[in-house]
Amino acid sequence: MSELSDFKLQWINCTRCALANEGRSKVIFSDGPEDARVMIVGESPGAVEDQQGIPFSGPAGKLLNELLIEAGFKRSDFYITNSVHCKPLNNHKPSVVELRACKTMLDKEIECVRPNVILLLGAVASLQVCGISSSMSSTRGLWMEYKGVPAISTYHPAAVLHTRDLDPAKSKMYRDHIVQDLKTVKEKLISVTPQNGDTSF
Ligand code: SF4
Repeated sequence: MSELSDFKLQWINCTRCALANEGRSKVIFSDGPEDARVMIVGESPGAVEDQQGIPFSGPAGKLLNELLIEAGFKRSDFYITNSVHCKPLNNHKPSVVELRACKTMLDKEIECVRPNVILLLGAVASLQVCGISSSMSSTRGLWMEYKGVPAISTYHPAAVLHTRDLDPAKSKMYRDHIVQDLKTVKEKLISVTPQNGDTSF
């Protein structure tokens, strides 16, 4: 058993924050290989993820899969996780206290996966990992760093879905930016030496 799997076992019934009492059916850890060169960090599991036990397995996840392919990736290239690992009631934004409580888990994931790049989906992930509270429009596509690992933020695929009917132009802009930022990740991967020996990109 890997160090990360062992660590997750210790969190399987976690009650470190209030999200443990908001109707979650389980703690949702991650999807993808532990030696992935890119770690994707989203916001939180939703209802589908809570049922299936896999992050990004709902509508936003399906869109993410499409966008990854459009940018020349496949989902299995990525280790995918979230800023918090339990489903918030009514999909509310995790509080600072909840984010802080779950950061230990995320830090352990980063320490064990040792990605070459961290891709942050949405403002909550940017806050959780890099402490950035500025708007996505001003920070997306810019390189930051977390514990020596290059990190870049882009819009959460849910932003594309939420604006699709109300404002199709904005929805398309979000979509285009995500694909563009994924391509930036790809360029970065080509330029950095793999930490885990994987040169498949
Ligand atoms: S969100 Fe994280 S810290 Fe809170 S109960 Fe779930 S696993 Fe524990």
